[in-house]
Amino acid sequence: MAKATLTAVRGMNDILPPETVAWQNLESAFRAVLALYGCAEIRLPIVEQSALFARAIGDVTDIVQKEMYTFADRNGDSLTLRPEGTAGVVRALIEHGGLRGQTPRLYYLGPMFRHERPQRGRYRQFHQLGVEFFGIASASADAEIIALSARLLQAAGVPARLQLNSLGTPQSRAVYREILLQYLRPQAEHLCSDCQERLERNPLRVLDCKVESCQEIARDAPQLLAHLDPESAAHFALLQKLLRSMDIAYEINPRLVRGLDYYHRTVFEWVAEGLGAQGTVLAGGRYDALVAQLGGPDTPAIGFALGMERLLALRAASMGEELAALPHVFLGALDAESLAAVFQRAEELRARGLRVISAGPASIKSLLKQAQRSGAHYQVLLGADDLAADSVLLKEQEGLAQWQGPWTALDQGLMQLGVDFS
Ligand code: ATP
Ligand code: MG
Repeated sequence: MAKATLTAVRGMNDILPPETVAWQNLESAFRAVLALYGCAEIRLPIVEQSALFARAIGDVTDIVQKEMYTFADRNGDSLTLRPEGTAGVVRALIEHGGLRGQTPRLYYLGPMFRHERPQRGRYRQFHQLGVEFFGIASASADAEIIALSARLLQAAGVPARLQLNSLGTPQSRAVYREILLQYLRPQAEHLCSDCQERLERNPLRVLDCKVESCQEIARDAPQLLAHLDPESAAHFALLQKLLRSMDIAYEINPRLVRGLDYYHRTVFEWVAEGLGAQGTVLAGGRYDALVAQLGGPDTPAIGFALGMERLLALRAASMGEELAALPHVFLGALDAESLAAVFQRAEELRARGLRVISAGPASIKSLLKQAQRSGAHYQVLLGADDLAADSVLLKEQEGLAQWQGPWTALDQGLMQLGVDFS
């Protein structure tokens, strides 16, 4: 019996060139924007102790209930592939004393893992850029981090709408929870099976369920915003004032509750057209209790995470940027005698910043095919005769331009054909 071909794990994608170029370009555009807001990168393990997520994210959330990749390692310790980044960042800051008298602004970029049903824009391994601001209780931090998120999406060239809500404090939310339950219980049989199941545990989740029948019920539900405590209301008002002062348009969405338990007051999402139910490209909120909950000093904080795959899917067709990374020139040796000269010149040109593919020794036919496949803009094939005569032909691959001249002056030929050495 033939052995079955091995494939990647379902929902976990290979990212191949030239797609990787689009990733790199987006990442470097993001790093430049992050620097404008004084954010520093933090790099953390992909695996954490399972207890971290249970404590940080909350037992009643979808993530902890059904989406985590949890396993026992060889020592029997329960470990989990991180489903999100915030818990790890907080764990690391506490562990390294990074919050004492400081207000760090950190970002991370990397893979997250959730056992969800794979579909367009929803994978089991996906990538997030996350940003966290610590130590600032005022709505000014909310406004600043939202301005940063707006600028990131602008840098990505993806238009999206900002939705805002306030969840108040845990105390005001507990009061509202009861009011909401009184409204939902009599209609429980009309909710989807997921919502029926989580109704008593986490009734707020019904508000942002994507199932039509649940949305209908949620539309007429009493609103959390009407039950905010006065401080949360003032916080929300200041945030809106600051957003208006920066000309950042927003919509208030009273049903935006977010899937995670740890949010306080401000929550927000940026929603783009074109990915259906997977349209949320960036989401975040304030989490003032989390640091203390994980054993650290009482520290207010706010953060968000942006889904890289969703963003890249939205800007895919529009950018021909991978072309920029194609090699400038293909240098092929036609025989063993010219191979060393080809390699020497290739290194010289690379030292001056040119992208070069070198190959050979091989037949003309084979080199032409290789040059074609490499995608290089120009090609030079060099044989022992050309070397002896010190004369080579530099040709454009997809065009007619060419230059004939000494092998030793190849750089000048390239410049004449328009290659920029700067
Ligand atoms: P959703 O409601 O779509 O499940 P979420 O609330 O679970 O999203 P967050 O935990 O807030 O998502 O993650 C932030 C962002 O990460 C999302 O807005 C989305 O862009 C991206 N994201 C989340 N889960 C996935 C996934 N399984 N595959 C791809 N991207 C994801
Ligand atoms: Mg989710």
